[in-house]
Amino acid sequence: MSEMPVIDQERCNGCGLCISVCTCQALLMINNIITIIEKEECTWCTQCEVVCPTGAIACPFEIVFSNS
Ligand code: SF4
Ligand code: SF4
Repeated sequence: MSEMPVIDQERCNGCGLCISVCTCQALLMINNIITIIEKEECTWCTQCEVVCPTGAIACPFEIVFSNS
């Protein structure tokens, strides 16, 4: 199985931007909170992390945090 991004569900505000950019259907909104569907193939495009306004998604194997 491929690696998956990490979601901090306490930071998610339910805006849905990550779903709109995801190319692989790996992200699903459940009760206004994003959940990763691990059986889907994530292409590790990192777009979900780029668009997330609250920093709730991290692709920890490629991204260097600059604002933590
Ligand atoms: S890294 Fe890309 S493919 Fe993977 S969950 Fe995020 S938006 Fe979807
Ligand atoms: S972009 Fe971030 S805040 Fe918006 S739904 Fe996705 S994880 Fe939640």
